[in-house]
Amino acid sequence: KDTINKIAAGEVIELPASVVKELVDNSIDAGAKNIYIELKDSGKKMILVRDDGKGMSQKDAVLSYKKHATSKLRNAADLESISTLGFRGEALSSIGAVSKFELITKRKNDAVGTRIYLEEGKKPEVSSIGAPAGTTVCAADLFYNTPARLKYLKSDATELSHVVSIVGDLILANEGISFTLVNNNKTILKSASSDLFNSIVNILGHEVARIMIPLEPASGTPSAASSGILSVTPSSASVSSTASPVVEISGYISKPEYTKSAADNMYFIVNDRPISSKELIKAVRLGYYTKIPNNRYPAVVIRLLVDPKEVDINVHPQKIEVRFQNEKEILKTVLEAVERTLKAFEL
Ligand code: ADP
Ligand code: MG
Repeated sequence: KDTINKIAAGEVIELPASVVKELVDNSIDAGAKNIYIELKDSGKKMILVRDDGKGMSQKDAVLSYKKHATSKLRNAADLESISTLGFRGEALSSIGAVSKFELITKRKNDAVGTRIYLEEGKKPEVSSIGAPAGTTVCAADLFYNTPARLKYLKSDATELSHVVSIVGDLILANEGISFTLVNNNKTILKSASSDLFNSIVNILGHEVARIMIPLEPASGTPSAASSGILSVTPSSASVSSTASPVVEISGYISKPEYTKSAADNMYFIVNDRPISSKELIKAVRLGYYTKIPNNRYPAVVIRLLVDPKEVDINVHPQKIEVRFQNEKEILKTVLEAVERTLKAFEL
């Protein structure tokens, strides 16, 4: 049984970066406003994530590391419209199976917190402990008991770059949360909770931020409305009942003359989660193509709000790739927003 758990864990947890992603997703789901991530040796030796979210009771903490324990799915219908980041209840059990795992958690109004420690071949330790409100998970010696997987880890620099990339995506997708990422006592990333543009400065750098222009909101053209696409600015988001898929699109794209950005300078955030989508990349390129045929690598940060029923995040265990029910319409919304913005910029 242990072996099966470890194999299954490998599918969820491949790298230090996947541990970071799962733990930070949990912190976001718990309503954290401050998330502190600390690594030793790029996460190979230690990954610690501390949050000031709602914490867990002792009973819930003991459940949390059991396989398929999730507090986030109440019934099958919930699967249709998932709004929390996690829902499978596999992350903590998987991380617990392949590391020396410690969890300390306390709810704001509880007198004491709970500490849980897991290590292969030992009985789980559960004790009461003084702790600040929130949750800290520490995974040490990742893959110490799965040598085959340990062998696949790359150099410290490479593993760190994966973590930096994931935390950068999370910073762009969560303006209201402040993140700190530290490796071997050195601060690598730090974001204050602020607006999207500041996050762009932080993650893509001043050089890129300088040439970014805000996406033009749609002016509610009849054709868009009749085709069922709704491109609305945040203030008019309340019209959600009149059409679907409801798309709210916002963000920043690079000015037409900017051509030197790299292929990975395209960021998409769907319903507050960073996602990657070859289709969305194509839609953006097409939007630029009519104006500037040789601009293959624009920089963009685009946020979409879509009816959760339209988004299939079951595609991949890491929940990174998404599939849209009504993909054509959504791609069209993105394409048109890019074209509109470039056109308005020329005027
Ligand atoms: P999932 O996120 O898919 O529900 P996880 O294995 O990641 O599964 O977590 C299991 C459960 O543990 C969650 O449903 C949640 O109730 C609880 N949990 C995990 N991390 C935290 C945290 N940082 N703060 C509060 N509760 C947490
Ligand atoms: Mg989770």
